[in-house]
Amino acid sequence: MLHRLNSAGYEAYLVGGGVRDMLLGREPKDFDIATDASPEQVRDVFRNCRLVGRRFRLAHILFGRETIEVATFRRAQVADEEAEVGMEIEEGGRILRDNVYGTLEDDAWRRDFTINALYYNVQDFSVIDYAGGMQDIAAGVLRIIGDPAQRYREDPVRMLRAIRFAAKIAFRIDAASEAFIYENGHLLDDIPAARLFDEVLKLFMSGHAVQTFELLRHYYLFEFLFPLTDDSLGEEEEGMPHQLVLRALANTDARIAVGKPVTPAFLYAALLWEPVRIAMRPLLEQGIEELPALHQAANGVIEEQLRYTSLPRRFSTPMVEIWSMQLRLGSRGGRRAFRLLEHPRFRAAYDFMLLRGESGEVEQELCDWWTEFQVVDEAGREAMVKNLSPAAAGGAGSKRRKRPPRRKKSAE
Ligand code: ATP
Ligand code: MG
Repeated sequence: MLHRLNSAGYEAYLVGGGVRDMLLGREPKDFDIATDASPEQVRDVFRNCRLVGRRFRLAHILFGRETIEVATFRRAQVADEEAEVGMEIEEGGRILRDNVYGTLEDDAWRRDFTINALYYNVQDFSVIDYAGGMQDIAAGVLRIIGDPAQRYREDPVRMLRAIRFAAKIAFRIDAASEAFIYENGHLLDDIPAARLFDEVLKLFMSGHAVQTFELLRHYYLFEFLFPLTDDSLGEEEEGMPHQLVLRALANTDARIAVGKPVTPAFLYAALLWEPVRIAMRPLLEQGIEELPALHQAANGVIEEQLRYTSLPRRFSTPMVEIWSMQLRLGSRGGRRAFRLLEHPRFRAAYDFMLLRGESGEVEQELCDWWTEFQVVDEAGREAMVKNLSPAAAGGAGSKRRKRPPRRKKSAE
């Protein structure tokens, strides 16, 4: 790939996380390529190439099952370059668009951290290092390139990236960055919720969620991503909430470590569960039944959360199902348990219940019952249902309040 570009007369290097991870002796997740060829020129060299780009234009080359990202050298904006074509800078110094091509050296300086700005030349196996990344690799320091305040203001998401990389490779964040990040989490308020959602997935679904969570809390960034969750953690430090989130994150890490799939629906279900429970309390006190109370609380919590990080419906719908199934897993009489087992969200809801069980929120007995119910044969299942106590068969039924008279839908 690099040779193809070289043969066509262009410069091309491996860069970014792949080079960083390789130099750290870790398995690179993927490689990015930086070149002096324009995206159109790249497309002319490769048949299997398409141009993409939201924030900037990139070439994607399909290589077997993988996609390799090829980016043209770009330069960083400078504060007084506002009028520059293709570059827009907001008043606070945040970059809105940066599509200005530059040289290899320009490209190095516009990158975020020194260890992410190393260029690997496959022709002679050399590393080109303008920003001092090799030294920082050796010292175990994650250092932002340039003036920290300016670089974080340009793109506050770099604060989250600092946490993500520090957690992933166990590097120490440089002191100037630390000082800035502690004070400036609020800059994330200006970042579109959709971008923060993407970033949240990278933060919590890359195999180092526990460490990432601890660092986000430590640097006061978590509260700008999940303010309701953060409040709920504060409310009961020694109680269950903190544990449920941590256990869910540990569980996510463990699944990723063995190659099992993870879903944002489950992650968000865990993160927002405690806020939903808190929002449910006054509704239950008003005499509203559990399930409608849950839905009402969920709607409120989701609406609030969407102001910070988006959550596409294809994830929020199953998330609410995971929650509402928590209310149904208790009542197992008749055909109920059999029906629940067939529910497409059963497995996720069951896993979620186990987390609640570990956090002391659900009887261990109920968890064990469901664990067994899944493995025994049909006759065994019938027997299990038959042996349920009346309370367990009807579940919440024994405690159930009388249904209030139905209101007309339009009365809403
Ligand atoms: P990962 O292993 O998670 O993919 P990565 O370092 O490759 O880590 P990417 O998000 O894939 O991270 O970005 C690739 C490279 O692009 C980075 O290494 C960095 O040089 C540059 N980069 C990405 N995002 C930014 C940003 N917000 N500001 C400056 N440079 C960035
Ligand atoms: Mg990458």
